[in-house]
Amino acid sequence: MGYKILMKKELGSSGTLFEIELATPLIAKKARAGNFILIRINEKGERIPLTIADYNRKKGTLTIVFQVIGKTTKLLSKLEEGNFLLDVVGPLGNEIHIKKFDYPVVIIGGGVGIAPCYPQAKELKKVGNKIIAIIGARSSNLLFWREKMDKVSDELIICTDDGTEGKKSVVTEPLKELLKREPLSLVISIGPLIMMKFVALTTNGYEGLPKVKTMVSLNTIMIDGTGMCGGCRFSTIDGKIYFACVDGPDVDGHMVDFDNLIKRAKRFTAQEKESIELYEHECGAVEKLKMGGSF
Ligand SMILES: Cc1cc2nc3c(=O)[nH]c(=O)nc-3n(C[C@H](O)[C@H](O)[C@H](O)COP(=O)(O)OP(=O)(O)OC[C@H]3O[C@@H](n4cnc5c(N)ncnc54)[C@H](O)[C@@H]3O)c2cc1C
Repeated sequence: MGYKILMKKELGSSGTLFEIELATPLIAKKARAGNFILIRINEKGERIPLTIADYNRKKGTLTIVFQVIGKTTKLLSKLEEGNFLLDVVGPLGNEIHIKKFDYPVVIIGGGVGIAPCYPQAKELKKVGNKIIAIIGARSSNLLFWREKMDKVSDELIICTDDGTEGKKSVVTEPLKELLKREPLSLVISIGPLIMMKFVALTTNGYEGLPKVKTMVSLNTIMIDGTGMCGGCRFSTIDGKIYFACVDGPDVDGHMVDFDNLIKRAKRFTAQEKESIELYEHECGAVEKLKMGGSF
């Protein structure tokens, strides 16, 4: 049968962000902040990794949040409550290390990356840390979970690139102000590779600002998620090779060779474009048939 979708809702108002609650009692029992799952929608589907954005052990459920960017996420967005996913594998990846730090922890979520920040903020807050959350997106319609993030942080800073909500700035601007304002123990950054690259540069002693340990969550291409395929390989600035699925996905941002990773993330662009075009062509043909037409 598979894994039932118990709840589905749209987030923001861009038409591209969705939250899904899945019935996965065994995975919910073991899930921790930092873990992800691999899902397959149907027999012909590819596997895609999604971060566990929340879990409820009593109900036996996991929450995932995803952005529609290609064929599989588009197909996922078409499923409704009561539908099933064929496979859900997890929890995969390393959980984050939870402890009480001396100084505040800054958690920065960009776009869909806001969702994986939530369980990390929640668990770090639970052990007594002061949490300063920065959430940002291109525009207000791509922001979500403001109230959830507010509940698990002591200070919430909102930014948008176009100024439609909160500060008109990229997330590194309030981060620079915080670095000047007070000592920080840890910065966590989850979002687009380019955002994580600039957060890591800002916390690495940029223009005389203090250096602060920074964890980033690597959303590299993954296939098996268990260290066998090598698809999620990334290199460090000193030339060492790691796998994001088993060595991460949360890793020390100061060691990552982001320029190499950004190049690797684009290596299947032609195939991804072909796949979504074929899917949309097939969908169009099915709609035509439903309306009494022919191929
Ligand atoms: C550990 C991890 C956690 C993630 N968590 C989330 C999440 O919580 N929410 C979310 O929206 N996205 C998340 N992603 C990214 C998500 O897996 C991709 O957006 C998704 O696979 C895109 O598939 P597609 O067919 O819709 O798009 P495609 O057109 O196939 O690809 C579009 C882009 O998505 C990325 N991508 C494609 N296939 C994969 C793959 N198998 N693995 C990883 N990235 C891929 C590539 O950057 C690619 O250029 C995560 C990725 C990783 C590695």
